[in-house]
Formats: sequence, C-alpha cells, structure tokens
Amino acid sequence: MKRTYRRFALALLASVALPMSAGAQGVGNASTTKGATAETVTTQLPRAVRPSHYDLTITPDAQAMTFEGQAAITIDVVEATRTITLHAADLAIAKAALTTKTGRKAGAPTVTLDTKAQTATFTFTKPVAPGSYVLSIDYAGKINTQAFGLFALDYKAADGSQKRALFTQFENSDARRFMPSWDEPFYKATFSLKTIVPTDEVAVGNLPVESRKDLGQGKTLVTFGTSPRMSTYLLFFSLGDFERKTVMVGDTEVGVLTKRGDLAQADYALKASADMLPWMNEYFGEKYPLPKLDHIAAPGRSQFFSAMENWGGIFYFENAMLLDPKIASNSLRERIFTVVAHEMAHQWFGDLVTMSWWDDLWLNEGFASWLESRATEKFHPEWHPELTALGSRESAMGQDAYVTTHPVIHPIKTVEEASQAFDSITYSKGEAVIRMLEAYAGSDEWRAGVQAYMKRYSHSNTVTDDLWREIDKASGKPISEIAHDFTLQPGIPLVKVTATCNAGSTAVALEQGEFTRDRAGKQPLAWRVPVRVAQVGGTAQAETLLQGKGALQVAGCSPVIVNAGQTGYYRVLYDPRTFAGIAKNIATVKPVDQLGILNDAVALGYAGNQPMADMLDLVKNLPADASPQVMERAASVIAGLAPYAEANPKRKAALTRFATARLLPVLKGLGWTPKADEPATAGELRATLIEVLGDLGEKTVVAEARRRFADPAAIDPSVKVAILGVVAKNADAATWDALHAMAKDETSAQVRTTLYSLLGRAADPALADKALALSLTDEPGLTTSPVIVSSVGAEHPERTFDFVMANYDAVMGRVDVSGATRYVARLSATSADPAMVGKLDAYAKQRLAAGSRRPVDEAIAKIQDRIKVAQTRLPEVDAWLAKAGY
Ligand SMILES: [Zn+2]
Repeated sequence: MKRTYRRFALALLASVALPMSAGAQGVGNASTTKGATAETVTTQLPRAVRPSHYDLTITPDAQAMTFEGQAAITIDVVEATRTITLHAADLAIAKAALTTKTGRKAGAPTVTLDTKAQTATFTFTKPVAPGSYVLSIDYAGKINTQAFGLFALDYKAADGSQKRALFTQFENSDARRFMPSWDEPFYKATFSLKTIVPTDEVAVGNLPVESRKDLGQGKTLVTFGTSPRMSTYLLFFSLGDFERKTVMVGDTEVGVLTKRGDLAQADYALKASADMLPWMNEYFGEKYPLPKLDHIAAPGRSQFFSAMENWGGIFYFENAMLLDPKIASNSLRERIFTVVAHEMAHQWFGDLVTMSWWDDLWLNEGFASWLESRATEKFHPEWHPELTALGSRESAMGQDAYVTTHPVIHPIKTVEEASQAFDSITYSKGEAVIRMLEAYAGSDEWRAGVQAYMKRYSHSNTVTDDLWREIDKASGKPISEIAHDFTLQPGIPLVKVTATCNAGSTAVALEQGEFTRDRAGKQPLAWRVPVRVAQVGGTAQAETLLQGKGALQVAGCSPVIVNAGQTGYYRVLYDPRTFAGIAKNIATVKPVDQLGILNDAVALGYAGNQPMADMLDLVKNLPADASPQVMERAASVIAGLAPYAEANPKRKAALTRFATARLLPVLKGLGWTPKADEPATAGELRATLIEVLGDLGEKTVVAEARRRFADPAAIDPSVKVAILGVVAKNADAATWDALHAMAKDETSAQVRTTLYSLLGRAADPALADKALALSLTDEPGLTTSPVIVSSVGAEHPERTFDFVMANYDAVMGRVDVSGATRYVARLSATSADPAMVGKLDAYAKQRLAAGSRRPVDEAIAKIQDRIKVAQTRLPEVDAWLAKAGY
C-alpha cells in the first residue's frame, strides 16, 4: 500500500517537530523467531482448521449497495473440532454446510456471529474428524462508500451522466467484509472468483477473465482464472464503465484501466510499468508469476493511502496514476512513477513472499519504499532519488525522536493496531534502514541475498530474520546484528564528532549517543552504527562499525563530513570548530551531504543540542545555484518557523524579510514558468518558493499570484496548485467564492478535489468556517469532504478539531473506517495550543481502546514539543534575525 502523498506537508517536515513514539521497547516477539510456523505466528483464530482454496461467486447490486456471495472453501481440519471459527464482518450468513471432498454431507452447523471479534463460528453437533472438507456458505454483504471491503465510488462521466464504479480494498483486515475467510496473511490459499455483472460493464480481477457466459436480461457470468496461493488481503475485484489498454512485455500482459474518457491519461503509468517490469524480473531473479498486471485508476480519495498492490490488479486513486494535462508537472510524473514502482515492487515483496503477521509489515513497506528509489535511480536519475530519500528519512526521524515511537518490528495484537502500523516508522525508517544495510553489505551482495530469499520463500510466508539470514550469507558481514539494533529497538543514534588536525592528517573521535526530543537524561540506547567519513572537497574516506566509542584517521586537514553519502540512519553532532568549517565551505559540499548536514542542524537546533544559528547560517550561506532539492529544504526550514511567528508580528516581519532576501532572488532566477533547459527538479522548487513566500504574505508574490489567477487557464500546470494555494490562503470572500465556483464547474475529478481542498486553506477564520460547513454538504462528494476538513485543519487546527468533535458522526462517516483515529490525531498537526492536549486526551478516553491511543499520544507529544520550542528555541531565532539585520 502506498500512503497518501501530502504536498502541503512542507511546514510539518521543516519543523521536525513531527512525532512520535514509544515507550515499549518490545524486543523478542514471535517475529524474531526462526522459521515461521503456524504455532509461532500470531493469530486471532483457532489453529485447528486451515483453508487451501476459495471458490467465490459474487453478485453485486450497485444500486442497492449490497451484494450476494457464495463461498465454497476447501479446508483441512488438522485436529478434531466441534467448531470452525473464521473471519466475517458486516456479512449476513444465510446458510452453511460442510461436505467431504467427494460431496458427502459432513454436517449442517449452526452459525454465531461475533461482531466485536469480526468472526463467524460454525458449531457442529459432533466433532468434525481430521481431513479435507468443503465449507459452503451463502451470504450477503454491503457495499461501502469509503475505501474498505467492497466499495463504490460515484463520479460524473464525461457525458455528464452520474456513474458508479465498484472496487475492493482489503489491507489490512477487510477481506472479511467480502467473504467469510481466514483473513490473516499467514493463511495463503488459491482463489477462483466468479461474478454476475451487468453485461455492458467491465469486471476486473487478479487474473485474466477465463470465460464469459451470457445469462440473459443484461447479465453475464464472468469467471476469472485461478490465482496462485496468496493472502486474503491481496484479492481484488472491480466493476465499472472502464476502458483498458494493454501492452505485452515478454509474455506478461501489462494493462491500464480508467473510467471511460480518461485512458490517454494512463499512458504515462503504462509506459513506466512496461519499462520497469523486465528490470524488476531481473532484480528479483524470479519472473513476475501472473499472466497479466493491471493498473486501475479510481476516481476519489482516501485520507490514508493512494494505491494498493493487489496481485495482478493494482488499485490507484486517480491522483496517483493519471497524468491529467491540466495539472501535469514533473513532480506529478515523479509521483506516478514512484507509486507505480512501489506497487510493482510489492508484487514480489508482499505478494509472492508475504510477512506471516503484521509485526513484520515493514518487510513489505520498507522494501517497496526503498525499491522506489532504486527504480528511479535506474530510469530517472535526473530526479535525484538519493536526495528524495533524505526527505523520507527525516519523516521517520521526526516520529522516531519521541518516546511515543515504536520499533520497526513491534507486536501487533488487534486490527486497529495493524491499521496504525502503516506509519512513517514502518515505511520510512524501514526504507532508511534498508538503504543503510545495503550500503554496508554492498549493492551486489545485497541483491544476491534478496534473490536467494525470493527463491527460497516464493509463494510462502516469512519473518524478518529469514531475510537477514540470506543477506548475512550473501555478504559475509554481520548484517543481522546491525539490523536487530535498528529494527528491534526504537530511536535514533546520535554520533558525536570531534576532529583534530595534526601533522597533515585528521584524527576523528566518534561517540555514539541517542538523539531524542523527550527522553533526555535517560541512559542512551546502544546501536552498532556503520559510519562513513569523508572530507569536504577531498577524496579521502574512512569507514568503521561504531560501537560506543571509535576513532578514525583521515588524510588531509579539511573539515570532515560524517555519514558521508547520507546512507546512515543517525544524526551527527560536530564539535563547533568542525561545524564552522563545514558551514564556511558549504558551497563545495556535495548536494546529498549539504542536505543531510542541514537536516541534522535543524533537528539538533530544535532539540537544543546545537545553536539555532547554525541551521540559519547554513540556510543563509547556501549558494543561490544549490541543487533545487537542497534549496527547497532551505525554504521549508523557513516555512517551519512560520507557525511560531503567527502570533508575533515583529517576528513574522523579520522572518518574512529573511525569506524575501534568501528565497525571492532564487524565484526570480527561476521565473514563474518552466524553462526548457532547467533541471527536472526545478519545477518543484519553483512551486515550493511560491507557496512559502505566498504563505508568509510576501507582497510581490501574493500580487503576482493574484494577477495570474485572473486567467487561470493560462497558468502553467506545474505551478497551478501553488499559485491557487497562495490565492486561497490570502483570499477574501469574493476570491473564495470565485475559487468555489471553479471547483463546482470543474469536470476533471482530480482537479476538482484539489480545488475543493484549496478552499480549506483560507487564513480568514470566517472563510474557514464556510469551508467546514461546505464539507458536510453533498456538494463536494463523500471522499472529497475529509480532504477539505484536513486542509482547514492545517491552517486552523483548534477550530477544526472542535468542529469535528461537534459533528463527529457526520465527518467520520466520510473517513475510511480503518483510519479514524489517525485522522483525528492528524488534525492537530500544526497546533501549539496547550488546550489541545486536554481535548485530544478526552477524545482518546471517550472513543479509543487503550491499545489504540498511539496516534493521539504522538500528536500530544508534538504539541508539547512545539510549546517547548516556542519558549526555549525561538528566542535564539529572534536574536539571529536581529543580528543579521532582518
Ligand atoms: Zn506499500
């Protein structure tokens, strides 16, 4: 699954006042044991029975928002039992029967549903003896309006008619809303899906259609091919007025599907997929095993994910797959490419080889996130994925620096805990740890280990140590030990550096501590840390595996850079003299290290380990022609300070003057429209500069954005969202109404949702209230409403939180059921109001189980941190701004 991409997360990233976590330093759960067996893997179901094959016939009634199902599940009863318990949620079971494989009746059970446990228990009058049986169940279910189980998305077709398309979304635990099933990743089985559908609609499954049978009265029975063994969460079904285009890659049919009229917008994704498939076949050393690989674009949004790796039938929301010419930009191409890469990587890592239980979710997500970078490096080096990766590492560290964080591998007991596991630690720390281990093992050795793992475990389940064992063997290095340090305990190592030059050579003393925002004073955790040291402008390098304290010698006397190349997952605190040397020579430092050094200075500055002046000096001294991604980060550092200036006019004026002096010349150099010969990443920088300066209310930028807004059709697609964002943020009532009219008239579903989200950005509280009220009308559409609310939340967190609490059922009825807790917690993401702490806590006490509080506790930790930063760190910023003459 690919998490939702949030373009407006800039300020959050910058302040590093992100998040999270975890008191529980839980080590030693089932996932660290060797070899996954049924007995060692967590389950919520009794182990006496295992499924091997599902025969499913689904008859949806899209108008009534219901469906009927018949399941014939081949099971093995391992030990005699009077009851069979499996998962079922929101299903009404009409009848059930057990037969032997030869068709002899073996029992007519009674059925009990447990709504809370989401199970159905079939009770027999006498014990069912061990052996093979078929459990047949007739049932009915409902079609949801948000992305879980079988769900519907309504949209306006190109001809103006109202249409409804159906899709499924089962990860992590919603296949049980589609079929009674052993809905846990460990229970792999084969699936044969049949469906009775309107003859004029297109049905899509994991496998190609095997046969069609006309049933008369406009209905057709569609039979899909039988799947290989796979986990329930990967099953897929979709139905609608779709168009499909395909291309053969070897003997695999690669396809894209869109709603009628949009097919050309999928060309980019189709080409990306066709380009990557042979490369991935080769990388994994196992050929993609299904005859077809479809990518399906759906209108609408989720607050939590943008795509899902169903085997052979990958689901995307349109904004992650379609290149709408109205907003096409390099950054949109990059997003589509990386999302396609992520989901394709899952076809192996996740689909072919699957974690036994959600404890090891990171195996799926960390790996897929990491492979995005590798694929981008191969096909689009001009996007500099090595720099993009540092943004991802920052988002992980933003969560990992708080006591509310959790280890990459952590015990999952409930469905809600599994849902919450889809966070920055699982995705981004997982990715960063893999990058570090790959760099330490060597990329060829790493790949050899991955290939051995794929070969050994294809079509089965694993735990993390199964991977480490193969990498250890392939690399001959102690990868497992380092991996355990970084995945079984939470937190971030801090490497303290003292460098001394003597007789033409630099002695580098290293000491490992812990970087934390709220665990100070405690005994630091211990890690084995692969450390690489290089010299500014030099070629000399040295490496060590740091344990506690260490020392290195590097030839020459220029300042040393620790974590050179930035593949390590740790922060670096330099002695003041070395840092001053780096800062003075920052223009000659490689972009990836410029970015890493800046990131560390920001985090250490906010945490109080280093003067705030250091990060501000770096921002000020970066050359105007720095890599666009580095300059973007500089802009985000300034944006991160902006919320602390909201209620302080003097500070705001000084910060805006600094932003203007630093960033406006860069924007002027770039211009407001793309140039033919500019770097591929310049467009993103241009959009960021417009947003940051516009958000600060820089007068010339706001005026220029308004001038261009007078003729929206003439705005270049790559800066359209940024320009409209500035207009929206600074909107008066008349401008807001004009934007609202644009949103209403827009025919492209994607652009329409974006316009509605912009309506939530107004700084004017009265307009914020209008946007919130609008979100609860039928006008924006069910999946657009929560986007508006989130958008208002970023500007007016307290107001929005109160609104959501006052209209709880109405708002939550529009949010995916699996993400409600995270949705509410996220509304406070920019708040520094002490009152919010009590409100969040009250919400958690009223609505959440004790084990489901983490997102709320993380949000509280961040608010408390922002309050602390405002009191203790901002005076240094004020002093620097004054001294620098702003
Ligand atoms: Zn994923």
